[in-house]
Amino acid sequence: MKWGFGGMSKLALKDLDLAALEKQVVAWGQPRYRGRQLAEWIFKKGVTDFDDMTNLPADFRSQLQHEAEITRLVVLKKLVSDSGDTVKYLFGLADGGAVEGVLMKHNYGRTACVSTQVGCRMGCLFCASALGGWERNLTAGEIYDQVLTIQKDEGCRISHIVVMGTGEPLDNYEHTMRFIDNISAPYGLLISPRRITLSTCGLVPAIRRLAGERRGLTLAVSLHAPNDELRNRLVPVNRRYPLGELIPACRDYAAATGRRVSLEYALLRGYNDRPELAHQLAELSSGWLCHVNLIPVNVVPERGFYPPSRKRIQYFKNILMQHGIPVTIRKEMGADINAACGQLRWKNRKGDKE
Ligand code: SF4
Repeated sequence: MKWGFGGMSKLALKDLDLAALEKQVVAWGQPRYRGRQLAEWIFKKGVTDFDDMTNLPADFRSQLQHEAEITRLVVLKKLVSDSGDTVKYLFGLADGGAVEGVLMKHNYGRTACVSTQVGCRMGCLFCASALGGWERNLTAGEIYDQVLTIQKDEGCRISHIVVMGTGEPLDNYEHTMRFIDNISAPYGLLISPRRITLSTCGLVPAIRRLAGERRGLTLAVSLHAPNDELRNRLVPVNRRYPLGELIPACRDYAAATGRRVSLEYALLRGYNDRPELAHQLAELSSGWLCHVNLIPVNVVPERGFYPPSRKRIQYFKNILMQHGIPVTIRKEMGADINAACGQLRWKNRKGDKE
C-alpha cells in the first residue's frame, strides 16, 4: 500500500518554532504578528487547510498555498486493547514510511506516547524498536502530528506526553526539543514540561545539555542493569557512557532542575533479577532525587526475554524499599496489542492483533 502524500519541496510549517515562523512571515512581506496567528492555527487548532485560517488575508492564504505546507499523518492501523484503556496507532508519514504512537487513558488524563525516529540505532537487547534498525529522524512536525492525530481521532484532549515510543529522543535532539517547545507553548497545546517525560538510554552529553537548558522535563533513564558488565550487554550505549558517567549526569540533572529522575529497570527473568543486583541498584540510587520504576519485561519473542515471577519481582522491590529507595512497579497497559514498553516497532509483525 502506498500512502505517501504531500510535496517535500514546500516549507513544512510545523517544523518551525514561533521565532522562525515570525521571521518567515516577515520575509513573505507580512507583519510579524501573523507568525503567531499562523502558529495558533497549526499548533493549537490543528488546522490543515489554509482556507480555514479566517483571520489571515486571502492573498496571504493563497501565498501560503504555494510556498508552505501543513504536514499531517494518516492512520494506517489502529488497535485497541481489550480493556479499552490503550490504543496503538500506526501512522503513515509523507515519504511513505510509518511510525507508531500510543494513547493511554488514565484516570488523571490522556497520555500520548510518541516516537522520535523511524527505527532506532541504540540496539538495546530486549527492545522491539531496534529490531528493524534505524532509518531516519522524525521532524519536529512529524512528532507533533502524532499528538494532533490522536486527539482528532479519539476526540480527546491530550494532557500528558511521554517521549518513549520508537527511537532515542536525545539522538534526535533538535527536532525533539522544538516539538516540546511548541507543544508546551501558549500557541500550542500548553502542556506543561512537568507533564512531559522524556526517556533516554543514557546519552550523557545530551543529558548534560538538557540539564543546562532547564526545560524542567521529567527524565526517565533506561537503566536496566546496576553494573557495567551487565549493562554493556543489555544497553550497548553503556560502553560509550558507563555508569560512572551516567549516574553523576542524572544526579546533576535532578539538582539543576529539581525534577525527580526516574530510573527504569526492566526485570528480565534470569538476567537482572538477582537479589545482589537489587542491592547494587539501591547503592546507585540512594542519596539523590530519583525513584526506581520496575518494569516486568514485556515478552518480545525474537529476543527471548520473559518477566520474573510475581514473587521474585516483589522480593526485588522489597530489597530496594529496605534501603529506603522510592520504588514502583509499572502498571501494565496494552501488552495484548504490543503497545507496551519495549514492544513498539516500525514494521508490523505478522500476528499483531487486529
Ligand atoms: S529501548 Fe529505546 S533507545 Fe533502546 S533500542 Fe529501544 S527505542 Fe532505542
